[in-house]
Amino acid sequence: MDPAISALCERYRVDRRVVDFVSGEHGHYVDGERLAVTGETLDVGEPSTGRLLTRIASGTAADIDAAVTAARRALTTGAWAVMRPNERQRVLLSLADLIERDARVIAEIETLDNGKALGPCIEMDVLGGADLLRYMAGFATRIEGATREVSAPGEHVAMTLREPVGVVAAIVPWNWPFNMAMWKIAAPLAAGCTIVLKPAQQTSLSMLYFTRLCEEAGLPPGVLNVVVGRGGVIGDALAGHPGVSKVSFTGSTPVGRQVGAAAGRALSPVTLELGGKSPMIAFADADLAALAESTRFSVFFNAGQVCSAGSRLYVHRSRFDEAVEFLVRVARSLRLRPGLDPECDMGPVVSAGQRDSILRYFDAGREEGAGFACGGDAPAGEGYFVKPTVMTASDNRLRVVQEEIFGPALVVLPFDDEDEALALANDNEYALAGSVWTKDLDRALRCVRRLEAGSVWVNAHDLVDSAMPFGGFKSSGFGKDMGPEQLAHFLRTKAVWFQVGAGEG
Ligand code: NAD
Repeated sequence: MDPAISALCERYRVDRRVVDFVSGEHGHYVDGERLAVTGETLDVGEPSTGRLLTRIASGTAADIDAAVTAARRALTTGAWAVMRPNERQRVLLSLADLIERDARVIAEIETLDNGKALGPCIEMDVLGGADLLRYMAGFATRIEGATREVSAPGEHVAMTLREPVGVVAAIVPWNWPFNMAMWKIAAPLAAGCTIVLKPAQQTSLSMLYFTRLCEEAGLPPGVLNVVVGRGGVIGDALAGHPGVSKVSFTGSTPVGRQVGAAAGRALSPVTLELGGKSPMIAFADADLAALAESTRFSVFFNAGQVCSAGSRLYVHRSRFDEAVEFLVRVARSLRLRPGLDPECDMGPVVSAGQRDSILRYFDAGREEGAGFACGGDAPAGEGYFVKPTVMTASDNRLRVVQEEIFGPALVVLPFDDEDEALALANDNEYALAGSVWTKDLDRALRCVRRLEAGSVWVNAHDLVDSAMPFGGFKSSGFGKDMGPEQLAHFLRTKAVWFQVGAGEG
């Protein structure tokens, strides 16, 4: 292990199991086997130091083939294929218990890999994942078809059967590596599917650790396979694989378009959870202090690498200056530290590439005339830190207003009336989420209906729960994760007819 990372682990008393786990090289997990690393590897960095953390295998199309074959086999033969719903439920519940037991270990792995603050990672990413497994486990014994009264000539009993859709290709991003993976696997496992999961190449470690818990919980071999490597090399092979029956993708909109095209060629149904540029609208009666305080979570959380972050704020012109003042106060109060530091409010972003992309957006903002009330650059020193940034603008067409920066930044714009606020908020290719801040209930209800967004919050931003469907419209994709809506994506319906009396005489 790099001496700077060893020192970091010692300073923050990282669990010995974590140090041992991350130190080795990491291969794929296929058919219940942890495969040795052969061939090309990819470097994985530690974001607070920028040093080499470990190496992972660079998967190939052949690795995807092997994983899909294992998943198909597990779907049709072996223990999972005949497992009763209540046993499947027990496995999911036991996985949730094991995640809870190892929450700190998983979160420490995640923080070393991704940079995020440890405390929220335990609470949100890891325990949130366990909660979703428990929620979906409840559905394993509640999958229902229907009988139908048909009018076809003759006498019939007609019914529908709900079956697992088959092998699921799950592709996840690096911003919530463990949590997004839980979003992708909990529902298909409850439905009885098998899975090939591809984590983002920057952040594969927590899910490789999770495979140990799968074995402990009694998940049969081949039910969950993890293939690691570059999306550009194996993503297409996975999304377009003829042995895959459903593609479930979370990531950027450009890659989502490629994944959708590959799935389309294979005629696999697809769910796309893509990018966002989510507006917050604050009317003249809004509680601006509460709004500003909430940006710790809704804008700067996870160093702003949140698809539904409230990254555009439209404020009634009468309170514009006051809003900026509140926001700057919150942004300046955030302590930038390594994610392992208990005093960390905001860790580094995931990579040098991501930091540079954010800084390029700040440059574009300056060139286009945006104002910077605070931040706008990176602090001196090692690691991929970016200062919490509040920009101001009056032109909705600026790139910093229209495009997803995916960093700790928001841009504040004024409006004069409700129609204008909604027009500005809806004038964007994304439609993932949005929020309305007002004490006027009638106004809130009007805005909820007129805002183009998959999730809308009133006097809050970025609330999520296992029971509530999450997913966007327009270029933010389609389909939902979580809630009962998600389970339906992993079930197919078979129509079954019995001809009554056909066996007589
Ligand atoms: P990304 O699109 O670059 O990568 C996502 C995943 O796709 C990774 O596993 C990557 O390796 C893989 N991939 C890359 N090229 C591929 C290809 N050609 N075919 C198949 N897979 C390929 O996204 P990212 O940078 O990892 O994540 C950030 C993005 O994810 C942001 O746009 C963010 O808004 C979005 N996101 C959306 C949600 C949501 O629920 N809507 C949640 C989290 C993140």
